[in-house]
Amino acid sequence: MENIAVIGAGTMGNGIAHTFAQFGYNVNLIDISQTALEKGLKTISKNLDRMVSKERITEEKKNETLNKIKLFTDLKEGVRNVELIVEAATENIDLKLKIFKDIDEFSNKNTVLATNTSSISITQIAAATSKPDKVIGMHFMNPVPIMKLVEIIRGYNTTDEVMETIVDLTKKINKVPVEVNDYPGFVANRILMPMINESIETLYNGVAGVAEIDTVMKLGMAHPMGPLQLADFIGLDVCLSILNVMYDGFKNPKYAPCPLLVNMVMAGKLGVKSGEGFYDYSESRKAEKVAKMFS
Ligand code: NAD
Repeated sequence: MENIAVIGAGTMGNGIAHTFAQFGYNVNLIDISQTALEKGLKTISKNLDRMVSKERITEEKKNETLNKIKLFTDLKEGVRNVELIVEAATENIDLKLKIFKDIDEFSNKNTVLATNTSSISITQIAAATSKPDKVIGMHFMNPVPIMKLVEIIRGYNTTDEVMETIVDLTKKINKVPVEVNDYPGFVANRILMPMINESIETLYNGVAGVAEIDTVMKLGMAHPMGPLQLADFIGLDVCLSILNVMYDGFKNPKYAPCPLLVNMVMAGKLGVKSGEGFYDYSESRKAEKVAKMFS
């Protein structure tokens, strides 16, 4: 595989594009929004600058990486003649089904179709295509250039050959693949989201404040970041959507999203990406927090 298309230039898409480009792959980064593409490329450039300043890569490598990335607003153009498509668009089932139907039509017959979904069934997404055997989950972690894990999710029809190809590719970009089966939330979010939801519930019940809850989990459990801050980084809309998928998928009230989370999402408080969540991320403070994440 040499040519990869990444759909969605948001939090995850720009990190995935960055990582593949840094390891020498040609990347077509696709988004419906030109502004999102430009913002995504700016983020990649800033993150590469940080790597240069820490002497992890050279200035020359930075420029080489940026030159590997091409921007597209036209899906059909962007997925033409690539061997792999990694979809990282907004977490919404109808949107993903439509994208997979389209890329099935626009891409070559041997192209592997991967999704970075946090929770939606790979098998359901695969059923929207004519080649469910070539559809797989490639669940990267945030921030992608730093985090080592990629959960590789086998859909009901995913072949061993596709599984092996994606496991090998994941190792080539210096990440650690972990194979899991296709059930709501997979492994990472099935364990993480109930903890985040319970932290929000603890806040909602007035047991403790934001800083107190995060400090308990950081200093008491040696977590590098408190669960409320982590929720802000993931995006509160993404957390809500994952919890809803697990709630629907398991029909179990233990996954029911806390009303405070629902309210915050309705109010547009989505965390880092909207400038406010459990914490305030006005421009200067946001830069400070993101810098810490990469240090
Ligand atoms: P985001 O909101 O930051 O970005 C989504 C991007 O998708 C936006 O730029 C939007 O313009 C674009 N988009 C929407 N519809 C599109 C379409 N039809 N074609 C092309 N682009 C389109 O979201 P995100 O946090 O990057 O999440 C993306 C995916 O990654 C979701 O499936 C999410 O569940 C998953 N994920 C997120 C995290 C996280 O920490 N945020 C971690 C792992 C996986």
